[in-house]
Amino acid sequence: MRLAGKVAIISGAASGMGAATARMFAREGAKVVIGDLLEHEGKQAADSLGSQGHFVKLDVTDEASWEAAIAETMKHFGKLDILVNNAGVSGSAEQDLYSTAAWNRIMNINSTGTFLGIKHALPAMQANGGGSIVNLSSVAGIAGSDNIHMAYHGSKAAVRLMTKSAAVQNARHKIRVNSIHPGMMPAMRTSGRTADPATRAERLRTVPMRRPGEVDEVAYAILFLASDEASYITGAELHVDGGAMAL
Ligand code: NAD
Repeated sequence: MRLAGKVAIISGAASGMGAATARMFAREGAKVVIGDLLEHEGKQAADSLGSQGHFVKLDVTDEASWEAAIAETMKHFGKLDILVNNAGVSGSAEQDLYSTAAWNRIMNINSTGTFLGIKHALPAMQANGGGSIVNLSSVAGIAGSDNIHMAYHGSKAAVRLMTKSAAVQNARHKIRVNSIHPGMMPAMRTSGRTADPATRAERLRTVPMRRPGEVDEVAYAILFLASDEASYITGAELHVDGGAMAL
């Protein structure tokens, strides 16, 4: 098993790619804390993992919530090896692409939420002698688009570069930090225009593989970077996008 004996926190793991990653981590031997705002779905996801799963209510924008989630992880599973900063919201439901309120909300969840996760996981990982942090950015953190609020692009670009800074600053502590850049995947809960079938069909033209990705195809990439198999990889970005960024 590729994560035998490891303890992981995955934010936003009540649904989507986070939930798929939690299932894969548990199959590979990890104990998994599912942190999410959604209590019902989060508890269900944790229960499905049996004694390897544990739910904590987490608001990634709230510093005290992160402190409590790390403390609960230490209490329940005794250590922290892996953090997956996966919680996020889309910018494709905004009617006003220049809404300042949307800018603040999206940046707060996607960027500040990731910063706070890194900040509060580091002491626990240092105490543990090392660890691995995987941050969910996006192809939208590398290239722009014409129908998504620019806060989504800005927030995911920030995740891409804060990953590299955290990697450089924490290499001496044996903590690796890498980013994942999914392309066209099943829509997010908060997707708007990008969930529209006609828009998705149009966008497939920019994907060399001419198909959307599946959640497990992202989970496998997260698994690799989280595991000791990636022991000499830090500050890297892995595109899981059917070749879109190669165009
Ligand atoms: P999703 O909407 O299915 O899941 C996101 C989860 O984050 C939800 O469970 C939600 O409750 C949780 N969340 C939102 N705000 C939160 C907060 N403040 N605190 C804690 N949890 C919160 O989305 P997904 O498709 O699984 O996306 C996962 C990650 O991958 C996101 O960061 C997203 O930006 C990124 N991503 C998604 C796609 C895509 O097309 N689906 C593509 C590239 C990148």
